[in-house]
Amino acid sequence: MIGALSQLSVNWSPTAPLSAAKAPKAEPKITPDGVELSLPAIDPEPLPPVSMKLDLEQFRVKPGEDIDLTQISTAPPEGVPTSKADSERLLEAMHKKISELQRRLFSENQRSVLFVCQGMDASGKGGTFKDVFAPLMLKTEEGVERASFNVPTKLEADHDFLWRITGEMPRKGNIGMFDRGHYEDIVEVRVANLAPEEVWSARYDQVKDFEKQRGDLGTKMVKIFLHIGKDEQKLRLEERRDTPHKQYKFNAGDVERREQWDEYQQAYSDVLTRTSTEQAPWYVVPADDKEARNLIIASILLKTLQEMDPQYPKLPDDLARLQIQ
Ligand code: AMP
Ligand code: MG
Repeated sequence: MIGALSQLSVNWSPTAPLSAAKAPKAEPKITPDGVELSLPAIDPEPLPPVSMKLDLEQFRVKPGEDIDLTQISTAPPEGVPTSKADSERLLEAMHKKISELQRRLFSENQRSVLFVCQGMDASGKGGTFKDVFAPLMLKTEEGVERASFNVPTKLEADHDFLWRITGEMPRKGNIGMFDRGHYEDIVEVRVANLAPEEVWSARYDQVKDFEKQRGDLGTKMVKIFLHIGKDEQKLRLEERRDTPHKQYKFNAGDVERREQWDEYQQAYSDVLTRTSTEQAPWYVVPADDKEARNLIIASILLKTLQEMDPQYPKLPDDLARLQIQ
């Protein structure tokens, strides 16, 4: 009986009836004259309920809290589903709500949100943009911005370390995502020994002052540390090395930096301990599971926007009374 039931649930409770796995394959056919494509009718089966419940405080670094990353789990937390299809449905529903608030933020056109994402190579910074932030892009290609930071160019190195950061702050009304950022100038500089300790250690206070000022000026900053385990990083780097469409992301530097894993964990632990504030908090997001990571970051974004409570601007009286012939 139990066997029959589980069989039934496998057959009749697909969680993603529209997924490529279920739908018959339909591909455009390129003919000498043009292109042909036909899609089969789909009769979706009802989806079973799915839910999540996340306490975000467990990820937030309280100001002054002593962080030791080696003691923090990289595995998905309780409260998120384990199936990819279920997670994707939840993420889609989260995106609907986030989009509503984002429309308000965009219309209000006074403040912005900036998610600064840091983490080891292959920790999912690019995937986070693709899965969580890019879908929020408005149809007009506005509303969302991304900036990534590489080894400083000559021009960048000829300026103070916050110069290039300032130039990439999101516009009013927008949600920005940094793929790496000003924390490279502490962590990478420290671990790779690019400058003396008095230079990078002074930056803890310098970034806090900077973030306070930008916050006061209207950019709500949230900092995300994508916390990936060393074993998971190995799997992802191997996958990059061995998968043709991922090979462009693979480089020897990733493997070299991995050799200093412990130094990076220590440097990031110190950054988290020293630079989390109420105004610009750090969140340590367990990142071994990509779907859980997406749901956590989307939840932090939703909560951030809800707290900002953006409002549609009121139409000025003269415009409200304007007659349209
Ligand atoms: P990726 O994000 O994989 O494209 O790699 C960018 C590389 O640039 C990483 O190895 C970073 O550590 C490095 N990087 C970014 N910012 C800095 C910086 N301020 N100083 C030194 N290296 C940096
Ligand atoms: Mg890389």
